[in-house]
Amino acid sequence: MPELPEVETMARDLKKAIVGKTIRKVWYDWPKMIHLELENGRRHLGHHPASRTMFGRKLRGLKVVSVSRRAKNVLIGLSGDHILAVHPKMTGHFLSGQWIMRGGKPLPASYGLSRRQAEAIREKVNSYIHFLLWFKDGSMLGYSDARKFGRIIFGAKEKVLGSKELSSLGPEPLGSDLDLPALRKILSSSRGRIKQMLLDQTKIAGIGNIYADEILWTSKVHPLRRANSLSDGEAKALFNNIKKVLTSAIKMRGTSMSDYRDASGESGGYMRLIKVYGREGEPCLRCRMLIKRIVIAARSAHFCPRCQRLA
Ligand SMILES: [Zn+2]
Repeated sequence: MPELPEVETMARDLKKAIVGKTIRKVWYDWPKMIHLELENGRRHLGHHPASRTMFGRKLRGLKVVSVSRRAKNVLIGLSGDHILAVHPKMTGHFLSGQWIMRGGKPLPASYGLSRRQAEAIREKVNSYIHFLLWFKDGSMLGYSDARKFGRIIFGAKEKVLGSKELSSLGPEPLGSDLDLPALRKILSSSRGRIKQMLLDQTKIAGIGNIYADEILWTSKVHPLRRANSLSDGEAKALFNNIKKVLTSAIKMRGTSMSDYRDASGESGGYMRLIKVYGREGEPCLRCRMLIKRIVIAARSAHFCPRCQRLA
C-alpha cells in the first residue's frame, strides 16, 4: 500500500505534470471509486444516476491550480475552489501517458511520449486504468488500480476537506505540528501497542506497515510495547527516526514492494534501503539475530528479537 513517501512522490510528479492544465474530458469505469461530495453535505457514489453525468460535467473546464498531499491522499486543487482528493489505498497510482479508447477500454498509446514512458504504461502493473483525465493541451493523466480499492472524491474544497475521511486525520509526521512534545503527548495518551499507534491515522497521518516497522527497528523499540510505556530516550529516538526514515524514503521516491509506481511508471528506490520489513528469517543488519515476523491486529510486524526487547 502506498504510504506517505509514495504518495508524496505521486503528488510531486503530478505537480510538475498537470498544474496549469485545463480538464477537457473525464472517463471512469469503476463507479464505486467515485465519490461526489454535494453542497448539502451528502455524497453520491459514481453509480448513482445523478453523479454519472454530473461528475464528468462538473470537472470539465476546470483548471488544475495545485497538487499537494495530506496523509495518504493526493489533493488536486481545481479552479472555482474545487478539489479532487485521491486515496490510492492498496494498489492505486497515477501515470502520465497517452491512451486511446477501444471498445470502451483505454489502450496505451505512444504519441508524444518518450520510448521509456511508452514502455512503462504498457507494463502489467500500470495497465489497470480505471480513471482518465484528458487535458486541453492534449496530455493525459491515468489512474491505474489493480485491486480497485482506491477512492476519488470530488467536490467543493471546503466540503471535501471537511469530510469524515480528511477531517479526522492526525498531524503530518514531517510537519511542524509534530514536534517532540506533541509526539510525547500522543504516546502518553495511547494505551495500545506502539505499532498500532503508528498505523492509527487519527494519531499521526501517513505512516503504514512498511515504514512503521522500519521506524521501530531503527529506534530499537519492540512493536508490541505499549505506546505509553516508552522512556524519554525511546520517545526521542522514535521522533528522530519518524522524520529520518520518511525523509530518506521520499528522497528515494518511495518503496515498490508490489504495485507502486511513480507517475512515469517507474519503481521507487527505497527498497534497497529496507532494514527489516519483509526480511523474516534473515539476519538483523545490526546484530545478525534472525528477524521475526508476528501478526498484530491482522497486520504483520517484522522486528529483531535482540535489538527490540519487549521488557
Ligand atoms: Zn538486531
